[in-house]
Amino acid sequence: MKVLVFCEKNDGAEVRAAYPEGLGEYLAQILRDAGHTATLLPITASGVEGFSDELLNEAEVAFWWGHMYHSCVQADIVDKVVDRVHRGMGIIFLHSAHLSQPFLRLIGTTGFLTWREDGERERLWCVDPSHPIAAGLGDYIDIPQEEMYGEPFGIPTPDELVYIGWFEGGEVFRAGCVFKRGLGKLFYFNPGHETYPTYRIPAVRKLLVQACEYVAPKQPVSGPLGCGHRDDFCIDRNAKK
Ligand code: ZN
Repeated sequence: MKVLVFCEKNDGAEVRAAYPEGLGEYLAQILRDAGHTATLLPITASGVEGFSDELLNEAEVAFWWGHMYHSCVQADIVDKVVDRVHRGMGIIFLHSAHLSQPFLRLIGTTGFLTWREDGERERLWCVDPSHPIAAGLGDYIDIPQEEMYGEPFGIPTPDELVYIGWFEGGEVFRAGCVFKRGLGKLFYFNPGHETYPTYRIPAVRKLLVQACEYVAPKQPVSGPLGCGHRDDFCIDRNAKK
């Protein structure tokens, strides 16, 4: 499977302590270890680097992690990513990507939430044990230190709610949600503040791979979408002939 990893570049000491190879490179490596082809597209103050239409047109799934540079992402790239999701590409938004431009476009609401950066424990409770994203991951996943993201979360009611996060402060959060948008599937997953090594936890790595495989299109991504006039087949009319 061909996967694009849009990930903000951050070389801060705290991030390097959690991910010496860089957060984006680490995410790409999780997918490569699972046998997929992953291409990292760094997001900087200049926008997305290394993007090409060819890369996007071959991608079956995209991951998106961003925080400081949401507004720097080029408008045409946002348009193209959103369009490809509508045509069937899967997409996974991680952590603070809840305010990224493609997430807000696809979701259609504010993406607002409450937060507290306190390094509290998060326990991700699985609320749909039969869901493929949660396969083999047990009743819950514990994350020793994470940024608290709390309700109310400005999203539409998810099409599929897979995880609810609980934090030491008492808050709860819809932490793992699937939305269908056009022909594509979108998964939002809240853990992954850049200074905590959350994505190194084996259960989280497994979850990300299973999410990638779940949102991947099960048929080729469609060509351009539009409203088509259909008069080639009509049961009643043909019956009268
Ligand atoms: Zn964060």
